[in-house]
Amino acid sequence: MNKAQDSAAKAPGQAPALTPMMAQYFEIKAVNPGYLLFYRMGDFYELFFEDAEIASAALGIVLTKRGKHLGDDIAMCGVPIHAANDYLNKLIKLGHRVALCEQVEDPVEAKKRGAKSVVKRDVVRLITPGTLTEDDHLEARAANFLAALASVRHGETDFALAWADISTGETHVIDLPAHAVQDELARIDPAELLMTEVTRTQLMATHLLPPNLASLVTPLSAEQFDSEVATIQLRTVFAEADIDPTVWSRAARAALGALVFYVLDSQKGKSPALRAPTSVAPDKHMAIDLATRASLELLATQRGATKGSLRNAIDLTVTAPGSRLLAQRLAAPLCDAEAINENLDAVGSLANDTMLTGRLRADLKAAPDLARALTRVALERGGPRDLAAVGQAIAAAIAVAQRFDGLETTPVLSRLVTTLAAAPLHLASELAAALADDPPLLARDGGFVRKNYHAELDAERALATETRAVVAALQARLIEQTEIKSLKIRHNGVLGYFVEVPSSPGGRLLEAPFREIFIHRQTLASVMRFTTQELAELEGRIARAHDAAMQIETAIFGQLCAQIVTATNALRAIADALAELDVTTGLAHLAATANYCRPTIDNSLNFAIVGGRHPVVEQMVVAQQQSFVANDADLSGSDAIGGGRLWLVTGPNMGGKSTFLRQNALIAIMAQMGSFVPATSAHIGVVDRVFSRVGASDDIAHGRSTFMVEMVETAAILNRATRRSLVILDEIGRGTATFDGLSIAWAAVEALHETTGCRALFATHFHELTSLQKTLSRVSNVTMKVREWEGEVVFLHEVGQGAADRSYGIQVAKLAGLPTPVLNRARQVLTILEQRSTGTRLFR
Ligand code: ATP
Repeated sequence: MNKAQDSAAKAPGQAPALTPMMAQYFEIKAVNPGYLLFYRMGDFYELFFEDAEIASAALGIVLTKRGKHLGDDIAMCGVPIHAANDYLNKLIKLGHRVALCEQVEDPVEAKKRGAKSVVKRDVVRLITPGTLTEDDHLEARAANFLAALASVRHGETDFALAWADISTGETHVIDLPAHAVQDELARIDPAELLMTEVTRTQLMATHLLPPNLASLVTPLSAEQFDSEVATIQLRTVFAEADIDPTVWSRAARAALGALVFYVLDSQKGKSPALRAPTSVAPDKHMAIDLATRASLELLATQRGATKGSLRNAIDLTVTAPGSRLLAQRLAAPLCDAEAINENLDAVGSLANDTMLTGRLRADLKAAPDLARALTRVALERGGPRDLAAVGQAIAAAIAVAQRFDGLETTPVLSRLVTTLAAAPLHLASELAAALADDPPLLARDGGFVRKNYHAELDAERALATETRAVVAALQARLIEQTEIKSLKIRHNGVLGYFVEVPSSPGGRLLEAPFREIFIHRQTLASVMRFTTQELAELEGRIARAHDAAMQIETAIFGQLCAQIVTATNALRAIADALAELDVTTGLAHLAATANYCRPTIDNSLNFAIVGGRHPVVEQMVVAQQQSFVANDADLSGSDAIGGGRLWLVTGPNMGGKSTFLRQNALIAIMAQMGSFVPATSAHIGVVDRVFSRVGASDDIAHGRSTFMVEMVETAAILNRATRRSLVILDEIGRGTATFDGLSIAWAAVEALHETTGCRALFATHFHELTSLQKTLSRVSNVTMKVREWEGEVVFLHEVGQGAADRSYGIQVAKLAGLPTPVLNRARQVLTILEQRSTGTRLFR
């Protein structure tokens, strides 16, 4: 309980000190604990007490005082309504939650109850990181998921995760075993996470919820996760979709129930029209755990930058929804060979027709973010631009569909084209006819309805315009009458229309005969202001015409919104299809321009890459006017020979081992997300899980010791990899004593080969491991080639058969600028050690 609430609790006994407004404030504050209360007062949102202190520090705005409460000053700060969005944005980004409290009655009504009565106020919306809908608050190219994790105990603990992006309405649910919770959360990357305090504590105690995810938790009570209540509630919320909640597990219903409860509570009764939840089958997607995602830098680099990530290298989409979908596909590549091939067919057919692809990209560019506009309209938070967006999206859908007229297409493309061609053209025509070009953001600004759309509106506007002309004529007449040439009729928000004259001749207007005509309003330093009866009448006429026009515009706005809401389902299908086509076209453009090939995908255990390249490093190398050296990899195996192959990769530091390892993992991920791949040819039997464990030198360890993290991750791989998995191990066993590390690496290779039988690449500087090729049938040695030239080492970045006998560490150290005496001494020590070395014999 904060200080203000604390004093509020004491307040009843000291009632005289509490003004009616403060009483109302405390009442509202008490039912919204944990939120900064934005309390509407006229043209400002005010914050009081501790909220004011927090907000003024966070926003850098002045902290003032307003009266006293129980003898203490009341701290206060405020933000003007027109700039509130910026401030809200800042607070949400800093992790605060805000309750928006509006005046819910006209102050005139309040006055009728007595001079001292307070305007009725209520919280109309809770703003939290997971419940954002405005473009100002959202990142255009990132989904904004709110997730709810339910834990249900029967025998063992089962989890279910439900998540939704309120800004687009998409909703999903999945049942999970405990060990998969962290990886699934890493895939979804929620902005806010709902769970009970008990679940949070339990997960943190068992290391299943890392601190970065734990910090996103909004705790809810156990009742809010009640699966029985949820069953009833879900039927009403998704009434249109006619769902049967009992098809979901108890945990899934509990998670969905909590999610829906929180969404509705945050929107205070308004429904953001969530879409019927889709159940995600656990094996539908390639499993990529948290460490692997980080190490492969799929969506962001390990330092958190977008540049340098795989997403950045392959995202050629032209719309924000397309980019969001691409990121989702990248985070969850498919495992079904047939579905993957269908996507590849679509990309392939567009890659072959660069002319069509170019035109589609130009058409798609004109399509705005339909899904997010629809949500705002449904929540009565939309503006004229959202309506225009709907019209433009429909127009783009139809234009795109027409590009395919008479063309043979693949099943995926023809599905998309059918959906797009069915876009409600009449709605687009209606919107185009009704809305002015470049309409304002807010309906309350008016002026968004096009001329000639509504006769009565045109008449009111004409009246206002004509009257303005009459005002101009009046000015001319008054100048003539008074002979004051500098007399002007002006307008401002406080006085309305007024006559303004410089002070010196102004005095004359206070005297006869003018005082019969001019009514004095204001005297400023250099001017005097008056009104006249005629001017007041004209002003009344303009205001009435303006009000009447505004009323008509508001009604038109309401009708257009209603038409859009009725068409929501069809429009959402179009939004989905546009995004999917954008992804497909973007990938086709990539395939055609980056010299990628179509991978062959089937259910074999093949992994044969010819001329493979690293999609990100290649771009960097090429940007530096160098060429990337392509390399083959063949880990193909079969059940008959006991699984896939394991390549032991040795070679010098800086030779390109990590690049080679990662490029193969990335190629598998790209292929299964439906993209062409950077290679001459690629034959991949569907990979169920990719694991990538990078060496201790790479900085991903926080909290636990580097070696401990390395071992936890290696354990996860050895425990969870299957024959269908692809495992990339880069220098394991380096963070400990040489023999300990070598022994662990040795045993890991044996386990991967003998027990798991997965396809694997294992890079190491323990050259002793290469002798395993003799005893393990599916192990091969490859090495990164180097050339020595005049004592210097030249990296060829080329993978060849065989094993390296040395790592050229001292040469690389020389390149890095280690002082010469240190290098000389290192060479001496190396010679001694090599002569004495007996370690390898241990393992032979
Ligand atoms: P270490 O053992 O020190 O970790 P490494 O063998 O893993 O080194 P990488 O990090 O893969 O080496 O590569 C070092 C650099 O070499 C890369 O940053 C890249 O610039 C360049 N490089 C790697 N592979 C290639 C390639 N195939 N073609 C061109 N340049 C490459």
